[in-house]
Amino acid sequence: MDRRWLAIVAGMATAIWAATSVQAAPCLIVTLTGVQSGPPIHEGQAGAGTLVRYGDDADNCSAVRLQFDTGRGTNQRLSQLGVTAGQLNAIFLTHMHSDHTEGLADVLLLRWNYDSAGPKLDILCSADAKSPLGHVMSCSNYVARVGEAFIASGEIAQRRAEDKSRLAGGPSDIANVVMFAPSNDPQVVWSSGDVKVTAVRSTHIPGHASYRVDTPAGSVVIAGDAGNDTFAPPRPSSTSAQVERLAQGADVIVHSTMHPVMGPDHDSGMPAPVYHRQAGTADLGAMAKRTGAKHLMLTHLAPALGAVRHGPYKVPDGPLTEEHYAKVVRDAGFSGNVVVGRDLASLRLPRK
Ligand SMILES: [Zn+2]
Repeated sequence: MDRRWLAIVAGMATAIWAATSVQAAPCLIVTLTGVQSGPPIHEGQAGAGTLVRYGDDADNCSAVRLQFDTGRGTNQRLSQLGVTAGQLNAIFLTHMHSDHTEGLADVLLLRWNYDSAGPKLDILCSADAKSPLGHVMSCSNYVARVGEAFIASGEIAQRRAEDKSRLAGGPSDIANVVMFAPSNDPQVVWSSGDVKVTAVRSTHIPGHASYRVDTPAGSVVIAGDAGNDTFAPPRPSSTSAQVERLAQGADVIVHSTMHPVMGPDHDSGMPAPVYHRQAGTADLGAMAKRTGAKHLMLTHLAPALGAVRHGPYKVPDGPLTEEHYAKVVRDAGFSGNVVVGRDLASLRLPRK
């Protein structure tokens, strides 16, 4: 082979290598599958949830699909993203409040119907947590019994008669519950290849946990409804010190928030303890600045954008816009990208 041909072959090899490298660039997509705060429903919003997808350009960042919380309507939003229940690698629950868990039976039933022959679905959550008031928050009980009404109605037996590959115990049989004891120190609770999920204890109700996903394309914290260990002022912040530690250096923070207009100094009618147990929007902006986040995704908005009421409480001075939320965050010193959550709001890292 003469020199000219060698140069051409070498050039082609470089081009192929470059094309392959571009294709294999890792990427991460964070999508809000539901932004509703609490039991009310505003204009069809889905209940709380966040889908985190990781992969590379060749697989549309979808080699791994992790769902954090499964509020009402999670399946609907996943279907709009082209994601089936059978494709999820794991579900992570922040706490046992229905606005974060109502969609779980739906997701598990769908997977049970069509993917019973496939792998079980990891469900990560806190070990049973006892409240000082005596009640016990139990994720393991919730998942174990999530199919009982469908068993009692006869549906599970009827569908199994049609397809014997469906698991005998119903939708809870498709779940593999992985419990951990949330603590102030971040602990790795799940990993797969390049993806690592870490959890900490955070305050809201007993057993509340917040998560961080680390990947080569970036990192995201899903805080859930985390608030401060001190339930009411005086306190340095309404945000969680544990979440702040977990979020150090993370690219994205996804966090529930309460707008200051609902505070006791306004006439919303919201009881002070309900107001104080969510992270205030200004405190969240200040926290995101301290941790060095590039993106702050506000979700579980109280009140919802455009709502005149939040459940039984009125929104003083009329409905809020995205700008009402973003301004509070910016005024608190956060100069990064603010996403004021709507269902299916999405962020890709690296950005295109
Ligand atoms: Zn909630």
